Amino acid sequence: MSTITHYFKSFFLVELFKGLQLTGKYFFRKKITVQYPEEKTPQSPRFRGHHALRRYQNGEERCIACKLCEAVCPALAITIESEEREDGTRRTTRYDIDMFKCIYCGFCEEACPVDAIVETRHFEYHFENRQDAIIDKAALLEMGDRFEQEIARDRQQDARYR
Ligand code: SF4
Ligand code: SF4
Repeated sequence: MSTITHYFKSFFLVELFKGLQLTGKYFFRKKITVQYPEEKTPQSPRFRGHHALRRYQNGEERCIACKLCEAVCPALAITIESEEREDGTRRTTRYDIDMFKCIYCGFCEEACPVDAIVETRHFEYHFENRQDAIIDKAALLEMGDRFEQEIARDRQQDARYR
């Protein structure tokens, strides 16, 4: 921009009036600000929030400790330890997710062959200590038990879009 044009625009406050024109244009339009948390925006069934571990209807844990989720996690947020049970099946003895490391990419749930680890719609949570951000197996199973109906419904709906 030439120096003369620049000085002309500065002197007549052209940029300021352009800004005011834009403000005026939207001033009387319908407002679209969402008053969170009283109002919420719609969520997709694929929303990736707090993780949960699911069980089968008979109460058995779905997770078979294959560690695919741990291997695929780009943030190295998942730590799994496992052992073989008396009946020859394998289950985790430790399943931790570090929620500070997690980037909510959803790779863990995509990798899981038995639909055990999932990400729920729930995102309104906080931690007050660093160690609270590590969610253990008991907490993940509890989350799964609490929201199983919602998780199952979302996954059914999601399957229809695929
Ligand atoms: S959502 Fe992504 S980053 Fe988070 S635990 Fe799963 S794979 Fe790791
Ligand atoms: S949650 Fe799924 S992918 Fe991860 S260890 Fe268990 S069965 Fe394997």
